[in-house]
Amino acid sequence: MHYINQLLQFWIETDWYFALLMSIMVNIVVFVSTAAILDYAIAGLISKYKVGGYIDDRPLKLNQKKMEIKNGVVACVIFGVGSLITRELFNQVWPISFVSLLIQLAAFMVFYESYSYFIHRLLHTKPFLKIHGVHHKSVRVTPWSAYSVHPVEAIFIAMSAPIFMSVFPLSLGVALILHIFGMMFTILIHSNYNLIINNTILGKISDSPQYHSVHHLLGNVNFGFVNSFWDRCFKTRF
Ligand SMILES: [Zn+2]
Ligand SMILES: [Zn+2]
Repeated sequence: MHYINQLLQFWIETDWYFALLMSIMVNIVVFVSTAAILDYAIAGLISKYKVGGYIDDRPLKLNQKKMEIKNGVVACVIFGVGSLITRELFNQVWPISFVSLLIQLAAFMVFYESYSYFIHRLLHTKPFLKIHGVHHKSVRVTPWSAYSVHPVEAIFIAMSAPIFMSVFPLSLGVALILHIFGMMFTILIHSNYNLIINNTILGKISDSPQYHSVHHLLGNVNFGFVNSFWDRCFKTRF
């Protein structure tokens, strides 16, 4: 914890270009390591231990992962710029109390669930179809598909924290943790892996990849991200 605080303090005080470089590196490390570990672990679980299976087991497109990794790295650079904006907006590194931490977490989750749903629906309207089409090039998804998006879509994602922070006091440390877990969760919902364990916590987590895989398979359903609240309200839940 002491080390993280020192690093955060350094990031706040250093020149913007060095802070940007640090942010890009953190994004790439989280993206590449999470996707690589998950991809490797899932392949092992299915082929070696016969646990679970792929939701969609059709073959991947030619050079699909290569394209996804390239797009993902570009998105990480854009997320780095987004972090730089949060550096200008924050007013505290950590919340003053545990209650304040819980309020920040809950408020951001509610905001992000709505923000991601409506942005995603906007991306499925005519003017944005070409842009969002980059993400939908991956029909059978892989963990690397998570950030295979057009730079404009990456800007929408990167702006979520700065937009929220300009109206609500989100601590910088909490924003960082939410961003890292958010990345891991996005990679998980693109895992194309089905654990098939019902009515357990594992089963619930395992349901998220199903829910998002169906979006890649069918298109205009399951726009939600964290949960299906808005999909149920607007009857877009499949
Ligand atoms: Zn979509
Ligand atoms: Zn997706």
